[in-house]
Amino acid sequence: MKKNKNLLEIPNINSKDAKFKELIYDIDDSLFNEDNYSKKELEHLCVCSGGTTSSCAKNGLKTLDLRKNYSKIHFDKESNLVTIGGGVIMGDLINHLEKYNRSFPIGLSKLPGAGYILTGGVSPLSRANGLAIDNIESIKGFLGNGKFISLKKDRISPEKQLIWEAIKGAAPFFSIITEIGLNTIQSNPIEIIEGFVNLNELSEILRISEEFPENISLQWIYAQKIYIYIFAELKNYLEDKRTEEYLSVLEKFPALEKKFYENFNEINFFPKELNLYELNSNNHSEVISLLGKDLENDIPIFIKCLNEIMENRPNKACYIASQQLGFRTKELIHGSSFFIHRNSTWKPWIYASWKKNDLQEKKVVMDWMYKSWSKLRRFYPNIHLAQLHNHLNSHREELKLAFGNRIDELKTLKNIFDPKSILPPL
Ligand SMILES: Cc1cc2nc3c(=O)[nH]c(=O)nc-3n(C[C@H](O)[C@H](O)[C@H](O)COP(=O)(O)OP(=O)(O)OC[C@H]3O[C@@H](n4cnc5c(N)ncnc54)[C@H](O)[C@@H]3O)c2cc1C
Repeated sequence: MKKNKNLLEIPNINSKDAKFKELIYDIDDSLFNEDNYSKKELEHLCVCSGGTTSSCAKNGLKTLDLRKNYSKIHFDKESNLVTIGGGVIMGDLINHLEKYNRSFPIGLSKLPGAGYILTGGVSPLSRANGLAIDNIESIKGFLGNGKFISLKKDRISPEKQLIWEAIKGAAPFFSIITEIGLNTIQSNPIEIIEGFVNLNELSEILRISEEFPENISLQWIYAQKIYIYIFAELKNYLEDKRTEEYLSVLEKFPALEKKFYENFNEINFFPKELNLYELNSNNHSEVISLLGKDLENDIPIFIKCLNEIMENRPNKACYIASQQLGFRTKELIHGSSFFIHRNSTWKPWIYASWKKNDLQEKKVVMDWMYKSWSKLRRFYPNIHLAQLHNHLNSHREELKLAFGNRIDELKTLKNIFDPKSILPPL
């Protein structure tokens, strides 16, 4: 079959359908030629790695697709470090690492690319192994002014310190990262307890989960029904005994099933039976990710709020989900970064989706997303900027809630290193 060169074969349907101006695969000087971008206000270069967001291709804008020329993966057996190109997807990374009995804290899907790592990277393994950014050892790439950069964790000069910190959480605003060196982790067996629960059961499971040790995390999704995953990394006999004790309280939920996997790579979260619309080519979507602390005594009001949100859900495609962080993600042993909300223990996200040509439905759905966000804000006041929304009215507010008092430092970096705003605007 003839390949359509005007089509970007990527998971995100908004971006896949975009009538982009040009697809670029190579990084050369012309990419940074400001004349290419100054024609329209906010015209900038879109960058595509995993292609899972609505911002990697847009009508009338150029996309740099890193998947073709920046897709190498190299594992060094001596150091246990892996080097990946800026266009590598997380599934390929952990597939490669499996050969060496190693792994990496990837998220709930194997589809996201380097954007997952650069925007923070919250994994079911994060409570024990930190965020994806905490495992970055080195980077290579280009700043928005075309200047090549190469940074190594233990050799950052004082004048590069701010760039290094901002790469970890805010890279897309001022750089194109072509190579990332990552620390890997031992691949361990995983126990999952999963199944459908009702709202009362979710309430109780939330309470139990806020006491989980670092190797156990809860993820839940409320779509047509509520589905939960309790994820436990099994490390050694002593710890496993403790893990079983924690998990034994869940035996009272009859619908939950226990499953064992040899490694993280074998797990597929959110299977087809959940009827999620994520990859439905008839739908477009936006996602907003929040951050907040343990709910503690607020669990009952949170459950009431969640119920209200879901009762007002405009269609079957929209949902609310959440994943748990904490422990290692609270620590700063890996140095400062632009993921500033280190005290967060929950990362819920709101998935808003509509039939792609139905502008009326889009409006209703986006209203629901914003209303739901405002209802959830009392529990989760901050933002995890995993999706860039410079095409939405909420962009500025999201920036403020994601970067807090580091926003001025980010603006300074942008002014110096991407002065013509060739990369996505702040
Ligand atoms: C099904 C699914 C599950 C997810 N699960 C999780 C999860 O468990 N935890 C979590 O934290 N997040 C999760 N996410 C969110 C995801 O990690 C982010 O949306 C991430 O930004 C996607 O990166 P990407 O490379 O796939 O997307 P793209 O759309 O290709 O890129 C997103 C943006 O990042 C920038 N970017 C990407 N690569 C580079 C680069 N090399 N250099 C500079 N800028 C770059 C671009 O500006 C682009 O606009 C999930 C997303 C999906 C779709």
